[in-house]
Amino acid sequence: MRACSGPRWRRRLPVPAALAAATAVVLLVSPASAVVPAAETPVGLVREAGEEANVVEVLLTGTAQLDALVATGVDLDHHVSRTGSGVVAHAVVTAGESAALTAAGFTLGKVLHRPADARARVAQREATIAGHVAQNREFAADAAGLTASAVADVKIIRADWYTSGTEQVLSVEAKWARGQTATDTLTVERDSGPGTAIGSGGTQTISRFVDAGVYLYHRGAAPVTSRPDRIRITSPTGDVTVAKVREWLPTPGSGPEGPGYQKDFVTSYLTPTELYARIRQLAAQFPRLAQVVELPHRTNGYRRHAQAVLGAAADSRVAVDSLAWGHQGGNDVSVELADPGAADSPLSVTVTGPAVRVTLGTDATGGVTSTAAQVVAALNAEAGTLLRAYAYRGSPGTGVVAPAARTPLSDGLSAPASVSRDPHPVYAIRIGKHRDGSKLGVLAYAQEHAREWVPPLVTVETAERLLRNYATDRQTRELLDNLDIWIAPSVNPDGGHYSFYDFNSQRKNMTNHCPTTRAADFLARNSWGVDNNRNYSEYSLFDGYSGASASCTSGTYAGPGELSEPENRNLDWLAARPNVKFSMNLHSSGNYFMWSPGAYALPGRVSAPRPTLAQEAAFWGASSRILAAIKRHRNMAVTPARTGPISDVLYSAAGNSGDMLWYKYGIYAWNFEVGTSFQPEWDEAHSEAMEFANGLVEMLRVARDFAKDRTRPRSSLTVAPSATPGMVDVTFSTSEPAAVFYTLDRAAPTYASTLYGSAGIREGGETLTVAAGTRVHWFSVDSAGNVENNYRPDGNGRNYRKGTAVLPRR
Ligand SMILES: [Zn+2]
Repeated sequence: MRACSGPRWRRRLPVPAALAAATAVVLLVSPASAVVPAAETPVGLVREAGEEANVVEVLLTGTAQLDALVATGVDLDHHVSRTGSGVVAHAVVTAGESAALTAAGFTLGKVLHRPADARARVAQREATIAGHVAQNREFAADAAGLTASAVADVKIIRADWYTSGTEQVLSVEAKWARGQTATDTLTVERDSGPGTAIGSGGTQTISRFVDAGVYLYHRGAAPVTSRPDRIRITSPTGDVTVAKVREWLPTPGSGPEGPGYQKDFVTSYLTPTELYARIRQLAAQFPRLAQVVELPHRTNGYRRHAQAVLGAAADSRVAVDSLAWGHQGGNDVSVELADPGAADSPLSVTVTGPAVRVTLGTDATGGVTSTAAQVVAALNAEAGTLLRAYAYRGSPGTGVVAPAARTPLSDGLSAPASVSRDPHPVYAIRIGKHRDGSKLGVLAYAQEHAREWVPPLVTVETAERLLRNYATDRQTRELLDNLDIWIAPSVNPDGGHYSFYDFNSQRKNMTNHCPTTRAADFLARNSWGVDNNRNYSEYSLFDGYSGASASCTSGTYAGPGELSEPENRNLDWLAARPNVKFSMNLHSSGNYFMWSPGAYALPGRVSAPRPTLAQEAAFWGASSRILAAIKRHRNMAVTPARTGPISDVLYSAAGNSGDMLWYKYGIYAWNFEVGTSFQPEWDEAHSEAMEFANGLVEMLRVARDFAKDRTRPRSSLTVAPSATPGMVDVTFSTSEPAAVFYTLDRAAPTYASTLYGSAGIREGGETLTVAAGTRVHWFSVDSAGNVENNYRPDGNGRNYRKGTAVLPRR
């Protein structure tokens, strides 16, 4: 069964002429006026590589000005907040881009995130990893007997016994001195109670826990039939250690996972290379429950041609690109523009190995006469097997070039050699007992946007929770026995690596689609790339929808055509699995929970089709569960104002992935905007990973329940005395997790009515203080879209719930 049979219809709007033209350029437009750009004026938004980019507030008068801001193609964060006086958006801009926005009439506010902040995060990450390495080294030294404290090369950190439902579980963590390099599991021997022999309670194995490539310890939990008093571990080298078992007392109300649920598996930010290593490691440890799948398309690679721009003024600049990739010899190429120091010298080029020397032409007085266009032609004629040269960004190159010392070309890439420069495979981990397509499929994917460092952590944390709790947690077992779960932690690894090592604000992939007449030169390298979340095939730029750009340097560049990018074709392949019915697209930031439609066409905000009422019922019902699970971690509430269709709560995003999954494949496609910033301080990033992993696991439970839930929720209204004279306190309760929509003005409730306590149902809902005698109309809806009393919340139905806010008689 298709989860929703509706979203097959799609409408193509005529493509505006300016967008259809291949040379179309999206410009800064006056916020008061045009949306469709006037063609051919030079673009204002190219981010020069020497400039740093900050996250900056843009203070807008309202949604019309927000649409105008989106239409500039500027690189926007996902944060949009409606304030009393207008709308605040976040843009990622350099000083030059800021000036262009200001010149176009936009008002900028505070700077929220600077590259120095990202450098601090990276430094913190390196320090954390180095600390773990040092601890490992110290322990290994101790274990080797170099200090008096050494007793064994294996040390038990903790051994906890607890009950979970009717089961008993023993959880063990132990550190082995060789754990960094040897991949052995460790065997734990149990006794069967005080005074009994070690081994009499059976054995269990524990496996390595590795984060960011560094071994931390071995961990694992297993069911036991009696409470052990002591355990013993004999390391593979023969060292023995024994420890006492403690009873672990869970805190009450810790959530539906039950006591002993294992979580917290991330200790630092992870690069795409490390993310993939992590899922490979997990699949290797749990081969019966998981496998790593290489998606069909490799990326274009974390690689670039080596380049240089010689000269200062635009009309006398010479841009040079190596033909070879930088790492394959391009970085060895150099170009010198030499003044011969003689009169009447002809322009000439000599090539010695990778060194290219241009001797500039001079006149009778010895003055240099060669223009940029002449140097370009000479370079292409004489050094065309090593490089290509071109005038700067479409300039005619009529200016006389300045002599320049030998300049090495560079690919500008700083990642260590451990980051592959080849077209990169993209991996997903597939989790489930039955991975043959026979079970309901669920997909989660992250890092379409490279600089969003927290969402990938949410996905690996979730994968690890599923696999490590399978043996001991009944609910996890239920999920893995009945679902086919695909998790792709980084769909844009090239951009991800670039964000970690080269330009922290990188949003897009790394592919340069700019022609040499535009911004293909070395100085524009931080502006290139396709916005992977604008390159999909439904309600796209190419269909005439708003919120994506045809400019190769725009933050929302849609690419040369729908699904032109390997990253996007990979996601299309994943979504085409016929059993996949639910998905989560993880982005940051802003703490949003969203679904389709994600795009509208301008003018008039002509939206992609709205979901039907039944579909919207499932969205809202699921949101109440997923957001409650997120809130459970540290009481962070995703607000009703940030829950709903993308184009309602954020802005139009033509060609986004959620819309493709929903409209093309009928997948219930949700989007998280995780947390507060792209690269928050680690403590914050860690909390965000924990809370949104709660939400992602809950999404799996929603999917599992969806298939079998036909029970309509029931709800009731409770009225209690208020401290305020003439008022009463009103609360709703529901028979199962469900969203409640209500009105206080006697209107029939709909999905546009006020949503009650949507993020707090497990904590008990909010208390509404209303005038005594107020009429309350409401209905409830669960995550499978079952509506109380079979009410149709379209404003015409009558069988909603009704009550009066009066105190019950005694
Ligand atoms: Zn994003």
